Amino acid sequence: MARARAPLAVGRQWTLIRGMSACAHSHASEPGLHGDGLDAAMAAAERRCGEIGERLTAPRRRVLELLLGSGQPVKAYDLMAGFGAKGETAKPPTVYRALEFLARTGLAHRIESLNAYMACRLGEARHAAGFLICDCCGATREIEPLGAEAVQHAARSSGYVLTAVTVEAHGLCAECAAA
Ligand SMILES: [Zn+2]
Ligand SMILES: [Zn+2]
Ligand SMILES: [Zn+2]
Repeated sequence: MARARAPLAVGRQWTLIRGMSACAHSHASEPGLHGDGLDAAMAAAERRCGEIGERLTAPRRRVLELLLGSGQPVKAYDLMAGFGAKGETAKPPTVYRALEFLARTGLAHRIESLNAYMACRLGEARHAAGFLICDCCGATREIEPLGAEAVQHAARSSGYVLTAVTVEAHGLCAECAAA
């Protein structure tokens, strides 16, 4: 049975990151997932949670939906504000707990330098993540970081137990660099 889903705040102006430093040139890209693409990603997340014995509860679902719908890094307070379909905001612990779960299970990544979260679009399991971040428009792309294995190997041999390996690279996206 298809579960009714609250509409996403599509086209909503995230307080963001994107628009943080308003660049005058326009960007055509619409990287978020909607419709069938979003449904497929949510179904995959549901399966993955089942495989690892976790539950994608309603708040976890909603936060992941918002992250996937944005396709870009989103700050926790934007997730709180966009949480309810009819504009009701969520309590901070609800969103923070959901984010902690999504980051722990690899469904999303925390980007420290932006103090924001982004849905994972690459991995089937928890993995080291790399991000190319545009400091002009905020466009952020997840990549597979080279060298992550060396970090993990060094950690193992030093007795460190890692919870996350994230590479955050700042600069200009192709559009901003060409503008
Ligand atoms: Zn990822
Ligand atoms: Zn840019
Ligand atoms: Zn720009």
